[in-house]
Amino acid sequence: MDIRYRSTRGNKEYVSASQAIIKGLADDGGLFVPDRFPVLDKSLEALSAMEYREIAYEVMKLFFTDFTEEELKDCINKAYDEKFDTDVIAPMTAVDDTYYLELFHGATIAFKDMALSILPHLMSVSAKKNGVDKEIVILTATSGDTGKAALAGFAGVEGTRIVVFYPKNGVSAIQEKQMVTQKGKNVKVVGITGNFDDAQTGVKNIFSDKELAEKLDKAGFQFSSANSINIGRLIPQVVYYVYAYATLLKEERIKAGDAVNFTVPTGNFGNILAGYYAKKIGLPVNKLICASNENKVLFDFFETGCYDRNREFILTTSPSMDILISSNLERLIYFIADEDADANKALMDSLSKTGKYDITDEMKANLAGFIGGYATEEQVAGTIRRVYDDCGYVMDTHTAVAATVYEEYRKKTGDATPNVIVSTASCFKFTRSVMEAIDGSVEGKGDFELIDRLSELANVAVPPAIEEIRTAEVLHSTVCDKEEMVKEVLDFLK
Ligand SMILES: *Cc1c(COP(=O)(O)O)cnc(C)c1O
Repeated sequence: MDIRYRSTRGNKEYVSASQAIIKGLADDGGLFVPDRFPVLDKSLEALSAMEYREIAYEVMKLFFTDFTEEELKDCINKAYDEKFDTDVIAPMTAVDDTYYLELFHGATIAFKDMALSILPHLMSVSAKKNGVDKEIVILTATSGDTGKAALAGFAGVEGTRIVVFYPKNGVSAIQEKQMVTQKGKNVKVVGITGNFDDAQTGVKNIFSDKELAEKLDKAGFQFSSANSINIGRLIPQVVYYVYAYATLLKEERIKAGDAVNFTVPTGNFGNILAGYYAKKIGLPVNKLICASNENKVLFDFFETGCYDRNREFILTTSPSMDILISSNLERLIYFIADEDADANKALMDSLSKTGKYDITDEMKANLAGFIGGYATEEQVAGTIRRVYDDCGYVMDTHTAVAATVYEEYRKKTGDATPNVIVSTASCFKFTRSVMEAIDGSVEGKGDFELIDRLSELANVAVPPAIEEIRTAEVLHSTVCDKEEMVKEVLDFLK
C-alpha cells in the first residue's frame, strides 16, 4: 500500500511522496511525515551483500511509493556516481574503539552531499509526475554546508533556480569561498547580516507568504526547499544508517540482529532523525546519541523536557551546528506525541511566540532511545589532537563534537555496544580550527598554506573540492539584512 505524507500540524492534507518533495513544507507550515512507517523487506544478511546504490533503492522504495522502480534507480544512479571519490560512497574506518562512518566523500566534502546529490533528480521526476509546468525556485538557508551542496546539485538543472542565504559572519572561510565561487545561470548566493536561525526563519516566512506565492504563481514560479525539512532530503539519509549496519555485518564485526549505537553531531536534527527513521523501519539500533556543541539547546531538552531557545547564540568552530531552532525536531515531537498534530502545533506555536515549550511526561518517556550530550570548544580541540596523536586520524570539528560526547558516554555508562560515529565533514573544510588543534600556530598563516600543511600532517591529498576554489573567482558578493531577503529573491526572479 502507498505511503502518504501529512503535515505535523494538521492531519487533513494527505499528499504523495512526489508532491511532498515538490512542496517542501506543508501549507500550514508543518513538516511532511509518512502516515505510517514501512518495514525493511530484505533480511540484514541480504542487505550486507549489497552495495550502497542497492541499499539506497531498498530504503527509498519503501518511502517513495509513487516512484517507479526505473525512476528511483535512475535517480540513485545519477546521484551516487563518480562525484564521490570512492566506490563504496560511505566508507567506514575503525579508529580507537569505535567506527567512523565517513559521509564526506562527495562533491562538496560534507555529509549534505549524501542527500543533495539525489534531491534535484527526485525533484525533476516529481515535477514531471505531477504535471508541474512552473519553474521551481529552491530557497535554502544554510549554516555553511547545505548551501554549497545544494548549489552543486541544482546548478544547471533545467526548470529550477536556487537562492542560498548564509550568515555572513557565521561560516568558515572555506565554506564561504565554496559558495561565492559557484558558477551557473540559475544560482544566487546571498550573505545575511544575522545568524543561521535568522536565515532559516526568513526562508520559512517567505514559504508561508500566501500573497507572494500567488504573485509568483502568475509569473510562472513555484517555491520549494532543499533544507532538511524536505522529505526528499531526509529519506536518502536513512540509507547510510542501514549501509553502516550492513558494512559492520559484512566485515563480521557484529552478528545479524546485534544492536548498534550511533553518535551523531547534530544541529537541525535532520541527520539523527534519519537514524530514528532507520530504527523505525527495523534496523537494530540501540541508542541514538545526540551530540551538540556549546549551543546545547538539544542536550538541555533531552535532560529536562524543556526546549528553550532563549539564550545566547554562540559562534563555535563547528558552525554547521550553530543552531538554536532545530527544525527537524518537530518531526520527532509529532511522533512522541502519538501523532497528535494539534498537540504538536500548540508546542510549535509556543516556540514561535515565547521561544520555548515543555513536553509532557508521557512524551518524555517516548524519548528513551535518545541520549543527549555536548562538547565544549576546548574538548573538541582536545579530541582532534588526541586522536591525531594516538592514531594519526584527523577528524573535522563537527565529528570531534560527536567523538567527545561518545567518549564521555562510554566512560560514564560502560556501554560496550558497537558504536558508529557519524562523521560529517572533511577536515579540510575546517582547516584553520583543525590545524589550531593539532599544530598550534596558525596565526598570520593563509588558508591555503594551512591546507597544504594539513595535507602533509594527515597524509591525505587535498580534495579536488578544495583545489577548485584555490584560484576560483568570486561571483557572488551580495549581503543583505534579514528583512531584505524577499527583495533579493524577487530581484533574482525578474
Ligand atoms: C549540517 C551539518 C551537521 C548537522 O546536521 P543536522 O542534520 O543539521 O543535524 C553536522 N556536521 C556538518 C559538517 C554539517 O554540515
